[in-house]
Amino acid sequence: MTELVIPGQAGAPEAESDLMVRAEQVHKSFGSIEVLKGIDLEVRTGQVCCLLGPSGSGKSTFLRCINHLEKINAGRIWVDGELIGYRQRGDKLYEMREKEVAAQRRAIGMVFQRFNLFPHKTALENVTEAPLLVRREKRAEVREQAAPLLGRREKRAEVRERAAALLERVGLGDRLHSYPSQLSGGQQQRVAIARALAMQPKLMLFDEPTSALDPELVGEVLDVMKDLAREGMTMIVVTHEIGFAREVGDSLVFMDGGVVVEQGNPREVIAAPQHERTKAFLAKVL
Ligand code: ADP
Ligand code: MG
Repeated sequence: MTELVIPGQAGAPEAESDLMVRAEQVHKSFGSIEVLKGIDLEVRTGQVCCLLGPSGSGKSTFLRCINHLEKINAGRIWVDGELIGYRQRGDKLYEMREKEVAAQRRAIGMVFQRFNLFPHKTALENVTEAPLLVRREKRAEVREQAAPLLGRREKRAEVRERAAALLERVGLGDRLHSYPSQLSGGQQQRVAIARALAMQPKLMLFDEPTSALDPELVGEVLDVMKDLAREGMTMIVVTHEIGFAREVGDSLVFMDGGVVVEQGNPREVIAAPQHERTKAFLAKVL
């Protein structure tokens, strides 16, 4: 805790316990361009929030702010009641150390449009990579006699078993030892989802997970996401798949130009959008 930063007013009330995500007046600029102009958003635990909006509206930037891959300029974000990236002492906010940020980030799974698997590792190795790294870090911490940031250190065999079970869960139990190049785009994206789940996240962020896929492969990835939702995973999903939003979403948030234009029950917003910009966007993607 070194640098003093105040990206908003400190001293707001504690996040409600059933809120997994709470964003309050999030602002983000790149140079002189303000990309997020005060985003407020809440996602309850176990719910699926679908984030829609035209290209360039700030959806990806907002997701990256949630796990502090981007530093916000003002406002605040809580995940599971914890302020992201900052510690509050009295009425001041202090920027977290990189290690603490990393621990927060580990609890948030992220799946991108491009699967970014390690090409020289098998499906199983891709999924075990991060948990095994954490294991090594914990061993180093114990050596330094620093207090471990996370709980018990898993056994290597346990990490492997859990990874295999996750690949089974996304329908790839028979492809554990395949390399990414031997898998279809849909299969690779399912490995990417298993890889994110391997860190046992409390929140999953999906950034257009099916946009890079051939149309016939979209369904298998959406099915895995539907299963996850059914099992109670809290998710924020940036997607143009209106059918998914309607069927699986608990809430729909429509963003344009760095602001939330409209939000509500997906079925209601899709059937009867209130704002012209939402209408125009939906007319294009429906
Ligand atoms: P979306 O995901 O909704 O398409 P983005 O969040 O990717 O929108 O981008 C929103 C705006 O922010 C775009 O104009 C984009 O060019 C800009 N932007 C995003 N990341 C950066 C960056 N690292 N540097 C400068 N501009 C950026
Ligand atoms: Mg994007």
